[in-house]
Amino acid sequence: MVIECKHVWNYISEYIDGTLDDATREMVQRHLDHCEVCSAILDSTRNIIVLTADDRVFELPMGFSERLHARLEQEIESAR
Ligand SMILES: [Zn+2]
Repeated sequence: MVIECKHVWNYISEYIDGTLDDATREMVQRHLDHCEVCSAILDSTRNIIVLTADDRVFELPMGFSERLHARLEQEIESAR
């Protein structure tokens, strides 16, 4: 099964947390191996988590994922 970038974005925080089941994790991993856009998101998401690791409660700023997704859509469009 091939998954799209949008699906990977939904899985990223769980992927980092290690809470995905094996099959889903492998699917995401395979996508990340060949997709620069999603690899970049994974890196920046990890950075955000590291930066906020001192706070016990981790929350993305309001609208963060919407803005991120909108920007990614643009990048994907312009890469075509
Ligand atoms: Zn992707």
